[in-house]
Amino acid sequence: MIRSLAVVVAAFVVMEPVTYLAHRFVFHGPGLFLHRSHHRRWSAPRPDDGWVEANDVFPVIFAGVTMMAFALGFNVETWSVLLPVCIGVTMYGVAYAFVHDVYIHGRLGPRRANARLDRLAVAHSLHHRFGGEPYGMLLPIVPTALRERARQRIGTVPRP
Ligand SMILES: [Zn+2]
Ligand SMILES: [Zn+2]
Repeated sequence: MIRSLAVVVAAFVVMEPVTYLAHRFVFHGPGLFLHRSHHRRWSAPRPDDGWVEANDVFPVIFAGVTMMAFALGFNVETWSVLLPVCIGVTMYGVAYAFVHDVYIHGRLGPRRANARLDRLAVAHSLHHRFGGEPYGMLLPIVPTALRERARQRIGTVPRP
């Protein structure tokens, strides 16, 4: 039980650097043809923008892979370690969706302000504005040079 809980926590924590790498090298790499829809929509919204964006294909793929891994974990004894891994990955996915889609981009409507989440929102807004760092979401690392650039250009000074 303790071991399984440790695997859940480890999977959750490891998902942040995995997300960073996926966002930086897949979304802004070969997956840019889908991810571009997210950046375009939030920088230049159009009246005919629907609720869904092409970028939503990514979470659907990730959920599909996780569900297959869950099925393997449930049905094949030797793969049962996949269950706590999938629970941690799913918890990260839920946290990501809440922070990024619900809180930052308000896709479910207006929300009550929260200082801690606002720090994440400011960091993510720099990714949208300048198209580079920070690629992380729950633990975004804003380089000093970018913080200075943001201070000069838009007066926003995200804390490290
Ligand atoms: Zn991006
Ligand atoms: Zn975004």
